[in-house]
Amino acid sequence: MIAEIELSTLSKIINNQRSYFNSGATLSYEFRIQQLKKLKQVIRNHEQDIFDALKTDLNKHEFESYSTEVGLVYEELNIAISHLKKWMKPERKSTPMVLFPSSSYLYKDPLGCVLIIAPWNYPFQLLINPLVGAIAGGNCAVLKPSELAPATAVIIEKIISETFSPEYVATIQGEGHVVIPEMMNNHRFDLVFFTGSIPVGRSIAEMAAKKLTPVILELGGKSPCVVDKDVDLNHAAKRIVWGKFTNAGQTCVAPDYLLIHNSQKEKLIELIKETIVSFFGEQAIKADYGRIITTKRFKTLAGYLADGEIIYGGHTNEEELFIEPTLMTNVSLDAPLMHDEIFGPILPIFGFDTHEEAMNIIARNPNPLSFYLFSKNSSTADFYTKHLAFGGGCINNTLVHLGNSNIPFGGVGNSGMGHYHGKFSFEAFSRIKSVVKTGTWFDSGVYYAPFKEKIKIARMFLRF
Ligand code: NAD
Repeated sequence: MIAEIELSTLSKIINNQRSYFNSGATLSYEFRIQQLKKLKQVIRNHEQDIFDALKTDLNKHEFESYSTEVGLVYEELNIAISHLKKWMKPERKSTPMVLFPSSSYLYKDPLGCVLIIAPWNYPFQLLINPLVGAIAGGNCAVLKPSELAPATAVIIEKIISETFSPEYVATIQGEGHVVIPEMMNNHRFDLVFFTGSIPVGRSIAEMAAKKLTPVILELGGKSPCVVDKDVDLNHAAKRIVWGKFTNAGQTCVAPDYLLIHNSQKEKLIELIKETIVSFFGEQAIKADYGRIITTKRFKTLAGYLADGEIIYGGHTNEEELFIEPTLMTNVSLDAPLMHDEIFGPILPIFGFDTHEEAMNIIARNPNPLSFYLFSKNSSTADFYTKHLAFGGGCINNTLVHLGNSNIPFGGVGNSGMGHYHGKFSFEAFSRIKSVVKTGTWFDSGVYYAPFKEKIKIARMFLRF
């Protein structure tokens, strides 16, 4: 059970964090590295509890919990632990002659006290991975897990309270629409890092704007998957089924809908059906396969099944919150299924003849979080990569771009702003402070009055 927090306690925690940050306790490399190592150890100690919680909340198999949650957190922790010293070092930059004798530096300052808000679909890693960035950056953090994944929220609170004092990192439980406005309207955070839906993201940005608080918004949307005529169909089928039906389709970067070149459509559909059976058997309800998070979401998803023709799957079980991997065709582009982010195991499929046609369908839901193309043709890959604005994506694969911490992960426009992972997380939770240091052994005096003929010197050094 999640214990709701008293509002006065909430204020006390946030005020204490401000004092703790102002004391300078979080600044040093030694402090930060120690906290990262402590976090890694406590996750190791509680690994099985985390798996159990994810099984309870989402019926995740341990393999999936490791590969898409805990393993990704270890990866982020390992990178931060290995590179933190280098990341923290002030960076020397070149200095124009006119500023002689000066040298210029970028200092990476902590932001201060940050609020990290997570959704329910990957409820562990989407809260703890940003925390790794916050700790590496030298910040204090308030964590808000999703109340819709309550078992995971409880184990997160346990892990955090065992490891950190609340004046440094604290977990706040409760209904998001109650506790988050309470925190954001009554206190100023130095960054709000939000992962969740577009409408809630918009309201987070509105609350933040009132206090000029910067935000990073990791949002959702409809991520298209395009299959070209020149394609390896067997690989495409496996990688699409894996990307779409992992966590029962409740993945922000899952392919939302499929656009297949008409010359390959029937063949690929047959292969996708065979692949679903090979992954989940004839009865996915008995397989290693996720469950829908709530009855409300179940009903929304079940409602989409009326938006077209079901060509595979379609079985549901409300009691078990189960929806079979489902393929649909003959869906109107104006139907809710093609307007809302599906965020479930239903894959609408469309044919196309020209890439312009496919682009026009994609343009109805602009700025997707992810984009996937299956094609052997590099000019087709170039065409989509150059002409589409999307957060990130893959050619001939799905999802895997978010598993590489050397590249940033984030959205664009409707799918969000800002990015993180690896070094980009450290940067997301740091502020660059520019400092110019000038020697005192020489002073050209060129910029002091009286100016007389000095414009000639100015023209020489500053070429306007
Ligand atoms: P959500 O927006 O409903 O909730 C996210 C968080 O916001 C939760 O902690 C919740 O408690 C809080 N919240 C809910 N209503 C609120 C309100 N009115 N005011 C303030 N806070 C509120 O999202 P969700 O249903 O938990 O997650 C699904 C969405 O998240 C999908 O759109 C998905 O695409 C997106 N998502 C994005 C990413 C990404 O990395 N870009 C990752 C996972 C999920």
